[in-house]
Amino acid sequence: MGRIGGGLLLAGSLLVAGVTLLSYMRDRDLPPPDSRPISLILCLPAVIVGVFLVLSRASVPGWLVNIAPGLAAVLICIPTVVDGRPGPLGPVLLTWTVVYSAYMLAIHVAWMTMGVVAASFAAAAFASRGVDGTDLWIAVTSAILVVFMLVIRLRSQSDRLSAQLIALARADPLTGLVNHRGFEEALGRAQVRHSRDGRPVSLLAIDIDRFKDVNDTWGHPAGDAVLQELAKLLAAYFRSGDVIARVGGEEFAVLISDCGVHEALRRAQGLLGRVREDSLTWDHRITVSIGVATVPDQVEDFDGLHRSADRALYRAKKAGRDGVVSANSGNLVTGSDEADAGRRNPLVR
Ligand code: GH3
Ligand code: MG
Ligand code: MG
Repeated sequence: MGRIGGGLLLAGSLLVAGVTLLSYMRDRDLPPPDSRPISLILCLPAVIVGVFLVLSRASVPGWLVNIAPGLAAVLICIPTVVDGRPGPLGPVLLTWTVVYSAYMLAIHVAWMTMGVVAASFAAAAFASRGVDGTDLWIAVTSAILVVFMLVIRLRSQSDRLSAQLIALARADPLTGLVNHRGFEEALGRAQVRHSRDGRPVSLLAIDIDRFKDVNDTWGHPAGDAVLQELAKLLAAYFRSGDVIARVGGEEFAVLISDCGVHEALRRAQGLLGRVREDSLTWDHRITVSIGVATVPDQVEDFDGLHRSADRALYRAKKAGRDGVVSANSGNLVTGSDEADAGRRNPLVR
């Protein structure tokens, strides 16, 4: 953003300097007041700031980016205020400032820039000699306003499209749940929160048991329907703040913030029962196996959280499926008494 602004500042000031030098070559002496020395003087700091912004690797402070277009508008109008000779370059450069603001800055800042442009050009128009200041101001300001509104509209369209793209890139098309990429990002955010508040975070790795059999027996579309049913069940079972993702073919993961291992096990076991019962009404009955891991109760850091839950899931499969295993334990918790799950697991730490 700063680099583009710097490029515009540099291009605009070089343009003004070039046009002013050409004018000197044509007419060495103009009847006073002659604003050309002022134009050249104003170009010098603008070129320096422009070069700095273009080459700078560090990010430019937000306040500077916000006020720069308005400041540029004031500088653009100063020579006309001094000599009363409006030229074509001023309105063109003012248009650059509003296009930049409308596309790059917050909407309220863009409107403020538009206001500064209108006010600065009012000063220039009413100082102009040989033309009607009001006519000039209305013509130029309304033309700039049309361009400004157009860019604002294009920008809101492109903002909407990019928001849709971002959402699509993080959604699983079959189930509408968060996909693997979205889940990794949610893990990153949970890690930041956890490092601030130290509250426990649990991850449930969930895998449908013998799902291949559903596909092999009833076909892929039947398998897809089961995945969609399970996704709906998960969305209804967990709370709105929990992150539910389809992280692989028939593998799901749930991230539960502010949830210790006992609570996580209780909810995992409750889920086992729900899947068993609810899938009786689906076309194909299924069961799931679940691995549970909790930071910091069982796993020290977030990097190992998903891996630990996956390892626990693997052990749940080996132990016979349709059960829950918590990280750092080899025991399978099955049964339907969800309220007891956390207490009954002998290896809960
Ligand atoms: P396990 O209990 O050990 O998990 O056995 P499983 O059969 O569930 O596991 P396995 O890894 O052998 O098979 C997973 C199957 O999931 C194989 C693959 O065809 C199926 N699958 C993966 N993605 C999709 C999908 O998007 N739709 C459907 N219908 N099937 C899928
Ligand atoms: Mg499976
Ligand atoms: Mg699997």
